[in-house]
This record gives sequence, C-alpha cells and structure tokens, in this order.
Amino acid sequence: METPNSAPPTRPRLKRGAEIELTLEKFADRGKSLARLDGYVVFVAGAVPGDRVRAKVFKRKKSFAEARLLEVLEPSDLRTEPRCEYFAACGGCKWQHVEYEAQLDMKQQAVAEALAHTGGLDLEALGVEVRPTLGAEDTSGIYFYRNKMEFSFAAQRWLTDWEIASGETLDKTFALGLHVPGRFDKVLDLKACYLQSEWSARLVNGVRAFAKEHGWEPWHARNHTGFLRHLVIRTPAHTDERMVVLVTNGYDAERMAAFSDWLRADFPEVTTLINTVNTGVAQTAYGEAMHTVFGSGVVHDRMGDYTFEIAPNAFFQTNTKQAERLYDVVVEFADFKPDDLVYDLYCGAGTISLTVANQVKRVVGVELIEEAVQNARANAEANGVDNCTFVAGDMLELFTPAFVEEHRHPDVLIIDPPRAGMHPKVVEQVAALRPERIVYVSCNPQTQAMDLKRLMDTTAAGYRIEAIQPVDLFPHTHHIENVIKLVPA
Ligand code: SAH
Repeated sequence: METPNSAPPTRPRLKRGAEIELTLEKFADRGKSLARLDGYVVFVAGAVPGDRVRAKVFKRKKSFAEARLLEVLEPSDLRTEPRCEYFAACGGCKWQHVEYEAQLDMKQQAVAEALAHTGGLDLEALGVEVRPTLGAEDTSGIYFYRNKMEFSFAAQRWLTDWEIASGETLDKTFALGLHVPGRFDKVLDLKACYLQSEWSARLVNGVRAFAKEHGWEPWHARNHTGFLRHLVIRTPAHTDERMVVLVTNGYDAERMAAFSDWLRADFPEVTTLINTVNTGVAQTAYGEAMHTVFGSGVVHDRMGDYTFEIAPNAFFQTNTKQAERLYDVVVEFADFKPDDLVYDLYCGAGTISLTVANQVKRVVGVELIEEAVQNARANAEANGVDNCTFVAGDMLELFTPAFVEEHRHPDVLIIDPPRAGMHPKVVEQVAALRPERIVYVSCNPQTQAMDLKRLMDTTAAGYRIEAIQPVDLFPHTHHIENVIKLVPA
C-alpha cells in the first residue's frame, strides 16, 4: 500500500528497444499479460502470469509500455504444451499454451475488471459476483469445437520456423490454411488444425493435393490473380450433413465438374457443394454469384429441440454445444412466465427466440440484416413455432415508443448486440421501457460494461445486477460471451 509519505513511483528508464526481465502478474486485455516495473505497466503478448521472461520494449507510452517476448526464463505453472505444431505462427488459437482452467479464470477476471473499470460498478458493494466461466464440458470440447471453418488459398505461403529449419525444399507459391496474424497476403499451409475436426483437416489436405495436381492457381492478394480463393467447411454438431463451399475467382464449369467428381469419390460424406464466385478484391468468402453444384445448398443443425437451416453465408453460432449452454443461461436468467411478452433484440436468425418461444406467450425479434430475418421466419415455420414475430431494421430507428405501442410492452428484454454494444439512444429507450427482467448477452464485456453504466445512470440506478455468467464459446482465444441478469432495484 502507498502511504502519504512514500515517494511517487519513479518511472524506469525504459527506452524503445530496451531488453528487460519481467515477472508477469496477471492477464490483461486481448490475451496479453501484464507486468509491473516499479509501478509502471508493461504488456507482453504470448506470456503467461507467473512467467519470468526476457522481453524487448517496442512501444513506450506515458502510462504503459509493450514488450515483445524474447525468452521464457522460468515458465509459469499455468503453462501447458500446445497441441498444435502451428501454434507459434498461427493466429487461430493464441491460448493453447495456457491450461484450460486458467483460461476460464482469466475470462471470469476480465468480466469483473470490465465491470469495475469501464462500468464503474463495485460488485462487492452491490453484493454480486461474477460466476466461474462455464467452460467446454469435456476435454474434446476444448479442441474441435467449431462447426464452421473458412480456410484461404494464397500464392504467398508463410513458412514456420520449423518448416524452414527442416531443410526440405518447400513450395512457397501455394498455401491453403489460415492467415498469419496481421498479414492479409500470407497464409500458413496447414496440414493439421484442431479447431473443427480430423475430417476437416483431411479434407483441407485433399483439396490442396487435388488443386496442385491440376495446376489450379491460388489467389495472389497483391496481384489479384489466381483462381482459388477460399474453402469453407460446415460440419453441424448434431447432424451428419457436411457443406463445402469453394470460393473462386470466376466461374469455370469444367473445373467445377472435375472438382465435384473428385470430392464425391474421395469425400462421400459431403452432402452439398457450393461454388461461390468472387472476382472482387475484398478477401471475403461472399461473392457475386453462388452455384449449388450438388446437394440442397444448405445444412441443418440443432439447438435444444429445434432444427435450423444454415445457408452458405448465414450466421450461425460456430460452437453449437456451448451456444446451447449459453442459451440455457439465458433461459435461467429470464425466469420466463407463460404469459410473458419477450423482445429478442439483435436476434440474428432467431435462434434465441425459437429456443424460448414455447415457454412464453409471444416473442418479438429485431434484426438489422434482412436475410437473417427471412431465415428466422423460415426457421420458425419449419419448427412449427407460431408465436414469434420478426422485424427487420436498425434498432436505432425501429426501437421507438411507436414500436412498443404496436408490439405491446415487453416483460422481458433479451439483448445480444454486436461487439460495439448498444447505441446510447437504444440504452435510453431500454431504460424508458423499464421491463421487469433484462438479460444482456454480450460478446464484448467492455461495451457491455459501458452500456450498463449508461443504463444505471439513466435510470438513476433503477436496476440491480442479479447474476453474471461468462460462457466460453471460444477455447484458446481471449473471446468471451457474458450474460448479465438485471431486475428493477
Ligand atoms: N442473438 C443472435 C445473434 C446475435 S449477433 C444469436 O444468438 O444467434 C448480433 C446481431 O445484431 C447480428 O445478427 C447483427 O446483424 C445484428 N445487428 C447489428 N447491428 C444492429 C442494429 N443496429 N440493429 C439491429 N440489429 C443489429
């Protein structure tokens, strides 16, 4: 503790380029770890609390510095051996070197800190704690948890240190895998990946071999040449359907027929193949035209008792099993009554709406993307749900007193905004509505905390936080989903 007599912290003479030794204290934002040098904060990516490291300062600000990890001198107990050989170079899972339990602790801590520092909320005084993060249930769930992967083709291959050290002659002009962090043009040629499934990795290797054998050129991100751009694989958790989307620069019927024949012979598990054509410069798996080469062009997955149709570009939670647990928390927090009118704000394709519909009188979903609203309506119909209304539009314009008059006053608000959180005007409207229960689902604890602060300020602390539950949908990453229950104070 600082006493009035103690000298102010002297700032160490940390110059850019200086090499320093540090002991990391705790996890910080965006998956970095934090150390203090005479009270001055230094962030190091790739280090873990408890590590003693050697690092090199590359950024120097008034209140903090950032340093690049050079060497781990004494490893932390929280470290574990990463499973993937591409871990050091790949940006897919930055946290594989941290014990899973420690990852969950860190997410719980990050939520608490966001609420305290950004939200200005004293949780202890409020008598509420952040519950321990709900993690993947079995160890297999911490790998192979994604139902969708989007791999990229590139004419510029990024080589890992061990690939270079192997001394083998390597083809540097073809890669199929994931982008290295911060490089739009360079891709790691992944022979293995633990995010989706063994099968998915085998398919990636098969497609690469096929493409090379046929001399099909990968996309060159600087020259904008080449044919092959992306390979999207969807493997729903609860059905055996498998979707492959090949994104190409231009349509070539002959090539697609050859690819389709090969795919059906070598990967008969694939139920539908789609060829998306994207001749634009932007590196997205969307395109100007979509051809269904075989199959229905969609796959299905289940959440709880409901089946959802998933189109190639549709948004669907990528970790089905953990999304189901997230929705279980929503249901628990919402404490539904049979007569409840529920607003599901930022509803996407209506997965939450449909999951809760049979427990309440009516659900009104609001979503910006027209296509997602159409999906939501189709999903409701296919599941025989007839008490949901979906409205397309921008919350900022739509969510007005007139809207509330038309759809009636809600008992429960479920709010699941994008990373940026809610518009301040939307928070004001929420405050004005004074619903009996609010369940706020967020993929960004910082903006969630900011929105809560606004809500508390606007309602003169008219709401009380009753429960806080983080859920881990993205093991080995710093991404957090957090659910907060609010009731009138
Ligand atoms: N609740 C859904 C998806 C939430 S993701 C689920 O669990 O699957 C956030 C959603 O908010 C996205 O679908 C996005 O399109 C939508 N959105 C973003 N900005 C919006 C706005 N201004 N008005 C309405 N919806 C918006």
